Amino acid sequence: MRNTVDILGVPVDKLNMRQSVNTVTAFLSQNKLHAVYTPNAEIMMEAHRNPYLKDILCQADLLVADGAGVVLASKILGLGLPERVAGFDLIKNLFAEAENIKMRFFLFGGKPGIAEEAEKYLLANYKNIEVVGVRSGYFSSSEEKEIIDQINSSKADILLVALGAPKQEIWIHEHKRLLNAKVCIGVGGSLDILSGNVKRAPEFFQKYGLEWFYRLCKEPWRYKRMMDLPRFIMKVLQVRLSSKKSKTV
Ligand code: UDP
Repeated sequence: MRNTVDILGVPVDKLNMRQSVNTVTAFLSQNKLHAVYTPNAEIMMEAHRNPYLKDILCQADLLVADGAGVVLASKILGLGLPERVAGFDLIKNLFAEAENIKMRFFLFGGKPGIAEEAEKYLLANYKNIEVVGVRSGYFSSSEEKEIIDQINSSKADILLVALGAPKQEIWIHEHKRLLNAKVCIGVGGSLDILSGNVKRAPEFFQKYGLEWFYRLCKEPWRYKRMMDLPRFIMKVLQVRLSSKKSKTV
């Protein structure tokens, strides 16, 4: 039974990093595909506008709070998520677990060559890690069947889908019935970071919930999308105030 907190109608799991890693490894012993998404404020706001995306998030098997904004929202609502569980850190912990628990990874996404470079990095840095397939994330709909066949014939247990949000969540949702993997995780730009082509924010920014600010400085063209962070917090504050009002009436 999941222990979740309701943030704008989306049930986010009340788990810390260790518990999230354990949940994913437990999925590996179950004979069905589990969809794992890592929403940040931008995705939560997009889901608030787009009922299809919201429904996809609601049907996930695990939803962890990738962004400091989602953790802040839980505090405003008095629901208190224990900590931020960034998607990139979640998969890094899984790579480390692969030393002792057998899990075969498939890396799907990024520009041509990125998944291959990420694979090289993983093989050089994690003991016993098994990467059973890679595939770039730029494809036409006529290639979908071949992609599914490639993933299934690789016998991957964990499929990392790095198509950016919300494309990856929609892709996982619409193909999960066809996939044999045990776990599918939407991982955004994680393969770019593993490949060494994109730098993650320094620890200081991560620690103080300012990763979004670092990203804004590095990728200023994202500012329109990032305006969803204050919009999301405003929405959550509205919900908080209206629930206070209805309690006092
Ligand atoms: N991407 C992809 N196929 C697409 C669109 C994007 O593989 O059709 C990749 C892109 O190359 C990048 C990642 O998806 O590696 C998106 O990274 P971003 O950091 O923008 O992720 P987000 O913040 O959207 O989760």
